[in-house]
Amino acid sequence: MKKIQMVDLKSQYDFIKQEVAVTMDEVLKTTSFINGPMVQAFQSDLEAYLGVKHVIPCANGTDALQIALMGLQLVPGDEVITADFTFAATVEVISLLKLKPVLVDVDPKTFNIDPKAIEKAITPKTKAIIPVHLFGQCADMDSILEIANKHDLAMVEDNAQGIGATHTFEDGTKAKTGTLGHISATSFFPSKNLGAYGDGGAIFTNDDDLAHFIRGIVNHGMYTRYYHDVVGVNSRLDALQAAVLKVKLQYLDFYNERRKEAAIRYTNYFKNHDQLITPFRSKDCDSHVFHQYTLRVLKADRDALVAHLNKHQIPCGVYYPVPLHAQKAYADPSVDPANFPVTNQLVKEVISLPMHSELTTDQIEYIASTVLDFFN
Ligand SMILES: *Cc1c(COP(=O)(O)O)cnc(C)c1O
Repeated sequence: MKKIQMVDLKSQYDFIKQEVAVTMDEVLKTTSFINGPMVQAFQSDLEAYLGVKHVIPCANGTDALQIALMGLQLVPGDEVITADFTFAATVEVISLLKLKPVLVDVDPKTFNIDPKAIEKAITPKTKAIIPVHLFGQCADMDSILEIANKHDLAMVEDNAQGIGATHTFEDGTKAKTGTLGHISATSFFPSKNLGAYGDGGAIFTNDDDLAHFIRGIVNHGMYTRYYHDVVGVNSRLDALQAAVLKVKLQYLDFYNERRKEAAIRYTNYFKNHDQLITPFRSKDCDSHVFHQYTLRVLKADRDALVAHLNKHQIPCGVYYPVPLHAQKAYADPSVDPANFPVTNQLVKEVISLPMHSELTTDQIEYIASTVLDFFN
């Protein structure tokens, strides 16, 4: 059996090596290392794939979130609501821009932001909501959009873990995550479902004016060369990364399908176990792209399970071990930790198993039986 890895980028590379060599060589020959035709080509391929009017590539997912928020022209002190249970980048950019992060609890079934908690957190200063499609599962977008519309709030999707997922609205219409709100941010970090061979990110929007404004922000606030109309940043997607992403985008649905198959296999091993809760899947199979396969471990020592797996050469992850409200950088003494009962519970229970498009059935069987052995 091949050595088990959390993410097996090497096997994936072996499969697309020749195609990547061709597109990379194109970049090297043209020497258009920044922007240029390869970045343009990837951008239009991704616009077509997502069914969105504008993709604005940038340097990484954290920049994408920050730039999306800059695009909304909020003012210091404006409140932005996001989930307590997510990667810190989401709240980091809110704080960097001197906006006020308002953290709310999540739904125990989906791990995603709880719409009821959003409603309770809204004040006259609330300007935006950032739902995160955590672990690849689309958040409850019908409810969140309804709240955003009712209170006239911007909706910024953090789609770093959800690229390729499709949301089916209550009325039956479908759209890709990242195109459901006003603006969205994604990451092409190597281990993401669509990962580059270095850093990368992008912003998506259907709003022409916002897209124009943001294209200036990513380029030092310039709309005409050497005329700086707003304070911007320097955030660009490397053309060599675009060459990798252009190839991998063609395989994204295949990769996500493979992840889904692996998830179904895992769940078949665990579904009747009374100390394990398997990831929730809605009836709509396309709304989860399994960036992570995350179990909840009940009435047992989760960290002992981590040690047990590591002892058997199985890597695993705890995403995330500390709620954002309890992080030193983001702790707010006026906020009661008891406001986050679900997150406080999840951080003790979650464990993510190896998940990638190259997992083999014998690897999955070995991982699953090693997990089950722990409880015997
Ligand atoms: C990875 C990730 C980011 C940040 O992306 P980078 O490209 O690493 O900056 C932001 N939000 C979430 C939810 C992520 O998983």
